[in-house]
Amino acid sequence: MKIGLFGGTFDPIHIGHLRAAEEIREMFLLDVVYFIPVNIPPHKREKKIADYEDRANMIRLSIRGNRFMKLSDIEIKRGGVSYSYDTIRYFEDKFKDIYFIIGIDAFSEIHTWYRYKDLFYHTNFIVMVRPSHLRHSGLEIFPDEIRSHIEIQENGVFKHASGKKIYFKDITQLDISSTRIRHLVENNKSIKYLVPYKVDLFIEKRGLYKK
Ligand code: ATP
Ligand code: MG
Repeated sequence: MKIGLFGGTFDPIHIGHLRAAEEIREMFLLDVVYFIPVNIPPHKREKKIADYEDRANMIRLSIRGNRFMKLSDIEIKRGGVSYSYDTIRYFEDKFKDIYFIIGIDAFSEIHTWYRYKDLFYHTNFIVMVRPSHLRHSGLEIFPDEIRSHIEIQENGVFKHASGKKIYFKDITQLDISSTRIRHLVENNKSIKYLVPYKVDLFIEKRGLYKK
């Protein structure tokens, strides 16, 4: 089994996330992509985010009927601040071949993550890059402290001393963010076609993101 792990705040999930996950799943022939909403994000601890259940329900509505996509509630089950390290260790024990899916924006800050150096011993990475961005063919994208452990295999493919790989992949990164969606809702603007139809209805019904 090849498993993709796609973590995020998903506040709310939008079609940028969904299209990205779909393209990566197809490219890597993943058996399942798990969407893993964060319980308490280490980096956004002071920021107010929607309730876990609302965020999880919006994911459920978005992936219903797609047998390749699943929701994992591991981070709320664990409780407290959510560290990807713990989530990766959990999945590593259940599945051999795991791929942590992450946008280049998040990956470029990985040196700030809890036990980040250890992550490269426990999971492969798929870093999603916008087609218009410079191809990451060099080691500069990796934090200084781990660079000596990484070798270039081919264009956009790197191997860590652990044997785990890091793939940089061009995807259709639609220019959509959850931040923008929250702002639109707050300003009574339409979010139609930026989120799945049912998510739009859910946000409306639950009154999310209103002042
Ligand atoms: P926010 O604006 O609140 O930061 P976001 O849209 O960036 O929200 P997150 O939940 O922070 O969404 O992101 C989860 C993951 O999805 C991250 O790895 C991020 O890089 C990736 N991601 C975010 N937006 C897109 C997009 N439009 N296309 C592809 N991947 C995305
Ligand atoms: Mg973000």
